Amino acid sequence: MAERPVRVRIAPSPTGDPHVGTAYVALFNYAFAKRHNGKFLLRIEDTDQARAKSSSEGQIQKTLHWLGLNWDEGPDCGGDHGPYRQSERLPIYLKHAEMLINSGHAYRCFCTQERLGDLRIQQRQQGLPPGYDRFCRSLSEDERKQKQKEGVPFVVRLAVPTDGVTSFHDELRGKVEFENHRIDDQVLLKSDGFPTYHLANVVDDYLMKISHVIRAEEWVSSTPKHVLLYKFFGWEEPKWVHLPLLRNADRSKISKRKNPVSLEYYRRAGILPEAMTNFLALMGWSFGNDVEIFSLKQMCEKIDFKDISLGGPVFDLVKLTWLNQQYLQKLSEDEFVRHVREEVFSEAYIRAIKPLAIERIAKFDQFVDQNAFFFNGELNYKGVELSSPDPTKGKSKAEVKEMFKELVEILDECYVWQLEDLKNIMETHRAKIGWKPKDYFMPVRLAVTGRKDSPPLTETMVVLGREMVRFRLRDCMKSEAVN
Ligand code: GLU
Repeated sequence: MAERPVRVRIAPSPTGDPHVGTAYVALFNYAFAKRHNGKFLLRIEDTDQARAKSSSEGQIQKTLHWLGLNWDEGPDCGGDHGPYRQSERLPIYLKHAEMLINSGHAYRCFCTQERLGDLRIQQRQQGLPPGYDRFCRSLSEDERKQKQKEGVPFVVRLAVPTDGVTSFHDELRGKVEFENHRIDDQVLLKSDGFPTYHLANVVDDYLMKISHVIRAEEWVSSTPKHVLLYKFFGWEEPKWVHLPLLRNADRSKISKRKNPVSLEYYRRAGILPEAMTNFLALMGWSFGNDVEIFSLKQMCEKIDFKDISLGGPVFDLVKLTWLNQQYLQKLSEDEFVRHVREEVFSEAYIRAIKPLAIERIAKFDQFVDQNAFFFNGELNYKGVELSSPDPTKGKSKAEVKEMFKELVEILDECYVWQLEDLKNIMETHRAKIGWKPKDYFMPVRLAVTGRKDSPPLTETMVVLGREMVRFRLRDCMKSEAVN
């Protein structure tokens, strides 16, 4: 079969902060497209309406551009195979679900949430793996028609063969096989008419003429379902490439509890985009001859799947910082000045700080000292007293730490980073745990600014931004101030 023109994509779900994993996968797709004179697409997979965040798509676009991973087709720039936002493609998925129903490869399932819940409990009690028992697969034509006539809500499920195996060839792993009886009759279309990831992803990859699906390892177990869909539609499969998962230093899957995972954080922390792409390129791929420092362009000229190893690359912050230093030192005077002016002391940032700073300085030579925490990354919590040794006078270290833990979780979910929202969130949390304002806000203030005499706390948090606030609270939780 003739080789297809290379067309690859990054297909993020806009459910939160732009994640380093997204950049990692985008980087390999981008480099592969460039190497083969192909096209790199951005497709927004926003069909999980409950989890989609409106601000997230814009942030994903912004950070991918920051890294220089620009796409040829996407929701902002269009292309011949749009729309590139799945929520704008619903009729396409509906049509394809119906095609599968008509060919007998999918069926309507009318089971209620209650029945599915009972089933799960039964399966758990009997030590069986969870999964749909295919009850509706054997409904007679009359029963099905009757339910539809009554308007019983339904989902559409994939009719997975009950025996045999489904296999695919992964360009990095070779042959991967799954026994069909272990594959669930996956929901393809939900009762609200929205597709699930599986249907939308396959239909779009096909219609957008994707030649290689390059994505993270966590999707390996979904691939047999996708392979079945290609088979049932009678479509040629793309080539499959599952990149190794990024890991924390302790080899666990990368998570925000151990490392910041938001690209915005790294940008804020002063990592240069060239250092970040170089660092991500080293995750599993080797340039050859032990070369560690190379540009995106050089990677694009050399990328080859045969040079990727599967041994769980470690997202090592020490290494990232070292790499960044190499790039920082190579900046020309002009580049250095530009960076300090436009990133560290950007006009927009100074404007945001001004109303908070103005109250506290009489002369400009006090500005830097008073406001250093706006520009620093890590703070030093040595000797900072967040707790009270006397339980009658305040909270203990353990209590403060526990409160921070809860607050960080709450702030992780706070996507609208605005004054009123933040005030409400913290006030609600404080009231819930029943702490006096002083006991609650002083430790937060110290963790976030390192100072007792900071400008008003919530206003300061708004200016510092979500990433820095969350980072500092987490960082402080590791320090002796609360341990
Ligand atoms: N929407 C999926 C994600 O969030 C896409 C996975 C894929 O590339 O197939 O990563």
